[in-house]
Amino acid sequence: MDSDGLLCDAVEDLGREHLVPQQALMEYWPWARLRAEQEEQQLYAEIRRLPPEDYAKVRELLASHPVAERGVLWEKWGGLWGRFGFFEPVSSWPWCNAAGWCFPCPVCAWPMRAQPAGGGVFAVSCDVHLLEGAQYTCRQDRGGSGPPVLEGGGCSTGRVKGFPAAGDYLAVSRTVWRYLTLPGRMEFAIRDALADIAGLEVFMYPEGDRYDLRITAAAPLVAREWRVDAKAWRSFDALADALLERPVLGGAVPLIIVVPHRRRSDLPRLRVRLAGRPDLEVMTDKDLVAMVLRWCRAQP
Ligand SMILES: [Zn+2]
Repeated sequence: MDSDGLLCDAVEDLGREHLVPQQALMEYWPWARLRAEQEEQQLYAEIRRLPPEDYAKVRELLASHPVAERGVLWEKWGGLWGRFGFFEPVSSWPWCNAAGWCFPCPVCAWPMRAQPAGGGVFAVSCDVHLLEGAQYTCRQDRGGSGPPVLEGGGCSTGRVKGFPAAGDYLAVSRTVWRYLTLPGRMEFAIRDALADIAGLEVFMYPEGDRYDLRITAAAPLVAREWRVDAKAWRSFDALADALLERPVLGGAVPLIIVVPHRRRSDLPRLRVRLAGRPDLEVMTDKDLVAMVLRWCRAQP
């Protein structure tokens, strides 16, 4: 529990990713007690029936715009808006409200947690991107009309623009953020990092939700293919359980599961769990990009 008696993010995520039936936890945990892969699967089931272009559009929008004003979302989503319960009003989330203002994380664009630290000061941080510098303080500004100024933090504060934690601002739910926004942002970063290489192409969501990215090499490079799925789960044990239950994708190419680079020290443990599945490889997003670029450079 944090100092306000609220369940910390880490506990909440672990609880979601494992089946935790404790009554004590239930009091603070109002969501259905589903295992993470069931929750993740439910999300995918909602969009799986969409035609391929719409499926790709929804996944891109959830990654690129996890928070926006209703009118902006309505415009971007077009005819797809209102068909899914992915968004919630930011005004209903007290945990990210710093004296009426909310700040998106400079890394993932989702609302950062705002915790009163006494004397009108709030500690503002993204639970996932804290170590990448997404942690600040801000002082309640009673006279000003705009959002208070963030201070500190390893990421440039210029990139963080506060918005009113009220009215028309909507954000994707925590579950959508974890299972669609975070991996989606990794996938688009991989695509962008591999753009502009002659012979290399990246296809997003090539086979619906079977896997996320297909990278192909063709002339002037030697023909080759990589298949990639990104995962941003907090618990690698729960992720391993889910991956082990996954049917073998088939084909000669293994499926590469990429995880955020900050989790690289947890990879050996995940590899041990997946030792019986030669069709699955695991590496970080950065390592995947470096590996593909190295391979391209090594071509005659
Ligand atoms: Zn973040």
